[in-house]
Amino acid sequence: MKAIRVEKHGGPEVLELRDVPEPQPAAGQVRIRVHAAGVNPVETYIRAGQQGYGAPLPYTPGGDAAGVVDAVGADVSGVKAGDRVFTSRAFTGSYAEKALASAADVYPLPEHVTFQAGAAIGIPWATAYRGLFQRARILPDETLLVHGASGGVGSAAVQLARAAGVTVIGTGGTDEGRQRVRELGAHHVVDHHAPDYLTRVRDLTGGRGVDVILEMLANVNLVKDFDALARYGRIVVIGSRGALEFEPRLTMRVDASILGMSLVNAPAPDLRRAYVAIGAGLDDGSLRPLIGRELPLAEAARAHREVMEPGSAGKIVLLP
Ligand code: NAP
Repeated sequence: MKAIRVEKHGGPEVLELRDVPEPQPAAGQVRIRVHAAGVNPVETYIRAGQQGYGAPLPYTPGGDAAGVVDAVGADVSGVKAGDRVFTSRAFTGSYAEKALASAADVYPLPEHVTFQAGAAIGIPWATAYRGLFQRARILPDETLLVHGASGGVGSAAVQLARAAGVTVIGTGGTDEGRQRVRELGAHHVVDHHAPDYLTRVRDLTGGRGVDVILEMLANVNLVKDFDALARYGRIVVIGSRGALEFEPRLTMRVDASILGMSLVNAPAPDLRRAYVAIGAGLDDGSLRPLIGRELPLAEAARAHREVMEPGSAGKIVLLP
């Protein structure tokens, strides 16, 4: 079968399409014929071998996939060959024609949800869900700022929060991105490159500030987030790409909480609950993963370049 292989850490050019043997499912595992694989920023950090990230070489990148189960190992119940599924934990790598996952890590993909949309769920939707409901414990009558709403995590957060009765303000860096955020249901949309945009966010809350901020670029925004935060506000740090100088007194002024989160730290029952809730919204059609671009598997290097460029308007998916 065809798969993307990484034999040494480096730039996107180290992603190469190769012929590799088909993986065989062991007990408790299923093999998925991958129809679409989701591309996440973390896969570029691992490919580059950034500090704190890495993988034993050689490897096939990716964990997010949607497809059809084509083989099951021993002792698997509840999933069978022919089932449409999605997963965030394709442990042999999802940038491939076939991938293995633990049967416990696959979830049913409703008939009316495309494989492309299924591949966009895994990491971004669980991250958005965990940030909102398990870390910030956001409540229906609260106000949320999704700081970076046009990308994979942000576009999921806008929909999940809106469906839960939260007032949602989303940011995007381009007209196209902001238009998408509006279409997803954000009550207000602002430009995170405009000079006065956090004053505008505060104005949109009648001067009170927002209760929760989901932060996609904390090294740039964490200090100025306090310009828009209400008393007892919570900031969930989801993305950060560097260091910053910080005055801790900022947290005292409004009794703020800064909550770190990494999806890999989510306990298994929390992760399962997140996917069950997301699955219910997919099933009734209220939640719709936003697809930005579809590329053939062979163009994985281009996908890695584009996922790190500004101007997000949804998820990049690879089609084997
Ligand atoms: P993505 O699809 O590439 O989206 C990136 C988002 O960040 C876009 O909405 C982008 O907006 C926005 N952005 C760019 N500059 C910004 C700024 N100055 N202020 C606010 N937002 C800005 O990536 P993603 O999958 O949504 O992931 C977002 C971040 O979270 C990444 O850093 C990723 O590594 C991280 N992440 C963390 C976890 C975790 O477990 N903690 C899980 C998944 C992702 P424009 O392009 O419109 O400017």
